[in-house]
Order: sequence, then C-alpha cells, then structure tokens
Amino acid sequence: MEQETKELRRVGLKVTHPRMRILQIFDEEGVQHLTAEDVYKKLLAHQEDIGLATVYRVLTQFEAAGIIVKHNFEGGQAVYELDRGKHHDHMIDVDSGKVIEFVSEEIERLQREIAARHGYVIEDHSLVLYVRPKPGSRKG
Ligand SMILES: [Zn+2]
Repeated sequence: MEQETKELRRVGLKVTHPRMRILQIFDEEGVQHLTAEDVYKKLLAHQEDIGLATVYRVLTQFEAAGIIVKHNFEGGQAVYELDRGKHHDHMIDVDSGKVIEFVSEEIERLQREIAARHGYVIEDHSLVLYVRPKPGSRKG
C-alpha cells in the first residue's frame, strides 16, 4: 500500500483507488506479464468494481509515466509488465500464449558485435522468440 502510494507520487500521478489497486496487482508475487483483461479479471477476483475501460486508461497512464512497459507480441493482445529497469528478452509459447523471460549475455554480446560491424552502437533492442514445447516435453 505504502509502496504503491510512493510509486504513484514519484511519477507525478494522483493516488486514486483504481491506480492503487492495479499497481498492487502488478506488485503481487509471481505476477509478471498481464493483458488488460488479466488485470480486469484479477480485480474482479478481488471484488473490485473497476471496469475494463478504466483498466485500459490506467495502463496507458502507467505506460506514459514509465511504470509499466507494453509489449505488442504477435498473435495476441498487448501484454504489460512493471518496468523494473532490467533488460530481458521474451519467448512466447504460441500454443498457450505463456510469456517466458530470458537473458543471454552471449546474445547481447553478439548483437553489439553485429551492430558494430555495421558501424552502429545499439540504442535499444527487443528480441522475441515464438516457441512451441519440444515434442515429448509437456511442461506447464
Ligand atoms: Zn518481461
């Protein structure tokens, strides 16, 4: 509660009930990547009467304020996550839509080398792998 209030004030957003509750959902343990509908359903599960339109509006405000990052992965709805300031790349399970995070120093280094070879330094990058479970390795 305290933490969310501070975070909202820090980015210059007024502390409102929907903003607090939505930020709390992203702060929940184990929560990483959520669609607007996921957020809406979690609010409902917490008996919160916050409409989907409000969820979208708050998410857009959070994105503009730099609290969350929005990803437009292919073949799915936009996915939001807290901006923890740590770079990582994503894998999307094309069957389940599950989002998996990964970091590979080797890939990071290779990308810098490739850019350098073309006379550039990397300003930013995002890498998304669209994956499917290996046959015979059904894991949830
Ligand atoms: Zn992520």
